Amino acid sequence: MSNKTYKPEWQPENAGKEYASFVMPGVEINPTVKKTYKAKKVKLTVDEYVKGVLEQNITIFSKTITLIESNSEEHIKIGQEVLKKILPYTGKSVRIGITGSPGAGKSTFIEAFGTYLCKQGLKIAVLAIDPSSTITKGSILGDKTRMEMLSREPNAFIRPSPSGGALGGVTRKTRETILLCEAAEYDVILIETVGVGQSEVTVRSMVDFFMLLLIPGSGDELQGIKKGVVELADLLIVNKADGTNVEKAKVTCHQYSMALNMLQPATQGWKTHAVTASALTGKGIPEIWTEINRFVDTTKRLGVFDQRRRQQTLEWVYTIIEEELRKRFFNNPDISAVLPEIEKNVLSGELTPTNAVNQLLNIFFKNQ
Ligand code: GDP
Repeated sequence: MSNKTYKPEWQPENAGKEYASFVMPGVEINPTVKKTYKAKKVKLTVDEYVKGVLEQNITIFSKTITLIESNSEEHIKIGQEVLKKILPYTGKSVRIGITGSPGAGKSTFIEAFGTYLCKQGLKIAVLAIDPSSTITKGSILGDKTRMEMLSREPNAFIRPSPSGGALGGVTRKTRETILLCEAAEYDVILIETVGVGQSEVTVRSMVDFFMLLLIPGSGDELQGIKKGVVELADLLIVNKADGTNVEKAKVTCHQYSMALNMLQPATQGWKTHAVTASALTGKGIPEIWTEINRFVDTTKRLGVFDQRRRQQTLEWVYTIIEEELRKRFFNNPDISAVLPEIEKNVLSGELTPTNAVNQLLNIFFKNQ
C-alpha cells in the first residue's frame, strides 16, 4: 500500500511513521446475512431428520449421525425419537466387520473393496471403531489420510470413529449409525477396527460377516493377532499377495486353512476358510464379494442370519442396561461423596471389598 494514497480514519495527532496501527472505517454487517447465519443454526425437528435420512439427503444424514454421536442428554433424546421412526426402514444391508493389525492393509483393502462395490452400483458406508483414542489418547485408525479414492465415490460414505469416552459409548454410536445408514439405503456397511482392547469382539457383535486381514509369512504372534480373534472370523484374507509375495502368501494361506480345520467355525452352517488377495492390485477382491454373497444366501436359508441379528439386538439391550447402571451409579452425587473414603478404607484393609460394595449399593438404592 502506498503511503501517498493511504488515509486512515483516525490516528494520533502529529503521528509519525512510527505508528504501525490506524483505525479503519468499520463495516456494517448486512442484517440479511446475519439472518441466514442464524437460520443455519436452527434445529431440525425429529420429522425433518427422519425425512432427510429416508430421502438420502447427505447433509441431513450427516447431521443425524452427529446428533447420534452427541453426548448431550437433549441430543440423545431427539436421536432416540429419530431412531424409533426410522427403525421400520432398517435391516436390509449386509453388515461386514474387518480387522487386522496396523499395517495389514485395512484402509487399502477397504478402498479397493469399497470402490469395487460402488462400481457394481452398490451404496457403501464405512464406519470405524477405534477405541485407541480412549486408551492411548491418540488414534490408530484416524490419523492417516485414508481412502481418498473411495471418498470421491458418490455412493460411498466414510465416517471416522466417533469419540465417546469408553468403548461402550463408541459402540452405541456405531450401532445406531448402522441403523441410520440402512434407512438411507446403504447396501453394504463395513465396520473397521484395529485390535485394541475388546474392539474385535465388539465389532463381531454387530456384524453379519467378519473378516480378518493377515499378511504373508509369520504366525499369529508375529502378525500381532490376539489369541481368539481367528475364531471370530468368517473369512481370513492373506493380503499383499502380489509381486514377490505371491508364493509366501499361498503358503500362509495354506497354513491358516490347516489351522482352521481344528477350530469351531464362528458361524453355524458356514466353514471359515482362508483366501489370498491383493488390495494393491485388486486381485481376489471380486471373489471375496462372491464369498460374502454365498455366506448371506447360506445363512439366510438356514435361518442363522436372522437368528444372529435378533440375538445381537438382545445382547445390545443387556449391554445398555449395564452401561446405564454404571453411569447412574458413578454419577450419583451421594456415591461420589462417599467413594474416596470407602476407597481409602478398602486400601487400608479396614473394609472388605464386599462390605464396601454393600455400603455403596445401599446408599445408591436408597436414593433412587
Ligand atoms: P492399515 O494400517 O491396516 O490400514 O494398513 P494400510 O492400508 O495403511 O497399509 C499399510 C501398508 O501396506 C501401506 O504402505 C500399503 O500401501 C501397503 N499395502 C496395503 N495393501 C497392500 C497390498 O495388497 N500389497 C502390497 N504390496 N502392499 C499393500
